[in-house]
Amino acid sequence: MAKTDRSAVIIVAAGRGLRAGAGGPKQYRTIAGRPVIARALEPFCIHARISTIQPVVNPDDIAMFNGAVQGLRFQSPVPGGATRQASVRAGLEALASDPPDIVLIHDAARAFVTGALISRAIDAAKITGAAIPAVAVTDTIKAVNAAGHIVATPDRATLRIAQTPQAFHFETILEAHRRAARDGRDDFTDDAAIAEWAGLTVATFEGDVANMKLTNPEDFQREEARLAASLGDVRTGTGYDVHAFGDGDHVMLCGVRVPFSRGFLAHSDGDVGLHALVDALLGALADGDIGSHFPPSDPKWKGAASDQFLKYAIERVTQRGGRVAHLDVTMVCEAPKIGPLRDVMRARIAEITGLPVSRISVKATTSERLGFTGRQEGIAAIGSATIRLPWDN
Ligand code: MG
Repeated sequence: MAKTDRSAVIIVAAGRGLRAGAGGPKQYRTIAGRPVIARALEPFCIHARISTIQPVVNPDDIAMFNGAVQGLRFQSPVPGGATRQASVRAGLEALASDPPDIVLIHDAARAFVTGALISRAIDAAKITGAAIPAVAVTDTIKAVNAAGHIVATPDRATLRIAQTPQAFHFETILEAHRRAARDGRDDFTDDAAIAEWAGLTVATFEGDVANMKLTNPEDFQREEARLAASLGDVRTGTGYDVHAFGDGDHVMLCGVRVPFSRGFLAHSDGDVGLHALVDALLGALADGDIGSHFPPSDPKWKGAASDQFLKYAIERVTQRGGRVAHLDVTMVCEAPKIGPLRDVMRARIAEITGLPVSRISVKATTSERLGFTGRQEGIAAIGSATIRLPWDN
C-alpha cells in the first residue's frame, strides 16, 4: 500500500514557540521524557501509508533536532523560512523533484496525532483534494472589538477548530503556495487558508480532541500529567554480571575508561556495570537477557563497546511506549576505587540513556576480601531498573 499511495508529510518545526515560556523552542522540549518533535514525527514514521517524511527545521536548531529524533527515519530536514507559510513552502519545494500524490502538512507542536487520524487525512485528500481535521466548538465563541466589547456571537454550530495534519493533492497546494508567494502574501496561518484564498473548496473531516497543539506552559504540564497517569504498569528488573581480570591497563566500568593494572577477559569490552543494567532493563520488560539479544557466539560483538547494548535496552522500553524511572547499579570489587568516579559514571550513563542524572545511581562496595571479588580475580555488578509501561502492554 505504501508504494501505491505516494503520500508524503511535511512536519513544520521551524517556529520559535515563544508562548510556551522559557526553555527554547517548544518542539524540542520533552513531555514525559520524550521530545515533542520525536512524538510528532513517530506516528508518521511508523504509518504504512506514508512514504516520505520531510521535516522543516530552523537552521539554528539542527543540533537540537538531530539530538531529539535519534532512531527515527525520514528525509534530511530542509531549512525553514521567516514565517510558517514560508517554511511549508520550503518543504513543498523539497518534495517537488519527486512529487507525491498527496501531501499532509503537520505542525510539530501537535505531538499526539494517531495513526487513525493520519489515515483519515489521506482518505479525505484523495476524495476531496483538500481537507483538514476539524473538531466541533463546545464553548460559545464571542467576537470582540479593540475595547474587548462583544460585537457578535457566531452560531457555534457553524464553527470548527482547525487542526493538522491538513491534507491536499500535492500539485494543487504547491501551486497555491507559489501563487501566494508571487503575490507577496505571507500572512496565512494555515494551509487551508491558502487553499481558500486560491479558490479551492476545502473539506473537513473528523479531527481528534487529543490532537491538541502545545502552546502554553500549562499545555505541557497537563500532557505530562496525562501521560504519567497512563504509564501505571510499574515494573522492576534485576541484572547480575561478572567479568574476570586478565592482562591490560584499563577496565571499562559504567561506560567510563578506568586506568587499572589489569584488563577484563570478555567477549565485549566487559563492562559489568552496563551489562547488569542492560539485564535489569530487559528483565523489567520480561524480554530475555543480554546474551539472547547479543549472543557471545556472534563475532559482531567481539570487543564491542557496551554503551550500544544499553542504548538498545532503553530503545526496547521506548518501543513499548514506556519510560525508565530509575537505574541503580552496585559494583563489587576491592579495586579500582569506584567512589571518586561515581558522578562521572552517573553522567556517562545519563549521556548514553538520555535520562536525567537524578534518575541514575552508581554505588560500590567491597566484599571484605571474601570470595573471588575479595581475591581481586574480577568484578561483579548488580543492577536494577524501574520502568513504567502503559497498561495495555
Ligand atoms: Mg558481561
